[in-house]
Amino acid sequence: MAQNSVVVVGSINMDLVARTDRMPAPGETILGTSFSTSPGGKGSNQAVAAAKAGADVVFVGAVGDDTFALELRQALVDAEVDAERLREVPGPSGVAAITVDADGQNAIVVVPGANSRIVDLTDEELTAIADADVLLCQLEIPLDTVTAAARHAAAHDTVVILNPSPAQPLPDDLVDTVDVLVVNETEERQLGENTLARVPHVVTTLGADGARYRGPDGERIRVDAPAVEAIDTTGAGDAFTGALAVAWHRGPQDALAVACAAGALATTRPGAAAASPTRTEIDALVA
Ligand code: ATP
Repeated sequence: MAQNSVVVVGSINMDLVARTDRMPAPGETILGTSFSTSPGGKGSNQAVAAAKAGADVVFVGAVGDDTFALELRQALVDAEVDAERLREVPGPSGVAAITVDADGQNAIVVVPGANSRIVDLTDEELTAIADADVLLCQLEIPLDTVTAAARHAAAHDTVVILNPSPAQPLPDDLVDTVDVLVVNETEERQLGENTLARVPHVVTTLGADGARYRGPDGERIRVDAPAVEAIDTTGAGDAFTGALAVAWHRGPQDALAVACAAGALATTRPGAAAASPTRTEIDALVA
């Protein structure tokens, strides 16, 4: 079956991960046990997830002019995401400095860098939004940019899917353009019933319990996640959301089944974007 074409307007970061036996106290220096870097950011992760799930995906975002920029761009290209509209702006790329201790607890500092520089959308970027089936956004870039993208999409019959993470109060002119909200239970609580009630389709992820859906006439659907051996739940939400965007045109029941399969498969592998499954893997689990 044909897949939706997707434009992601969102963030792209380099994740810098230091593993330690324990968290350092303020002012303390300790030795770590390992260090790794990997491309991240919810925008980039969801774009990669959607491309791996089979869609034509365009990414609109920004990297800096530092040494991370090349690797971040290449990660999109490697996943067959169209990175022609990835801007390079002066200054640092977005980074997430992540410390993980032996118990798996983490402490994270995100410095948005270039992600905060995507302000006015260009004509080319607006055309990409108008031409796509789905616009997929998160909240790791300026809210005004997300709002402008969503308004443009809505005016051109492009379905607007918003994963409002990190959760924050949403302006009315954004809420009124959103077709589908994808939230976890924490975000659902933080946004509140007043906001949720104004969006036609709300999809709530429930971790190992799968996901639920509430439609425009109050109809409800519950989809169980396939039973898998989860080893690392990082990126499950992004795999779910990317796949949901790809399958949304199949209707909520099928789209949730595809998204739950993608989320479940992502938990069976380490990492974020690298863990998101291919269309073949998803189809095999859904069938
Ligand atoms: P994160 O931000 O940590 O990626 P999230 O809170 O946004 O996650 P979750 O609800 O944890 O999202 O997971 C997203 C989806 O992934 C779930 O709806 C489910 O389909 C799948 N999933 C997550 N954990 C498991 C699990 N242990 N077993 C099977 N499927 C899972």
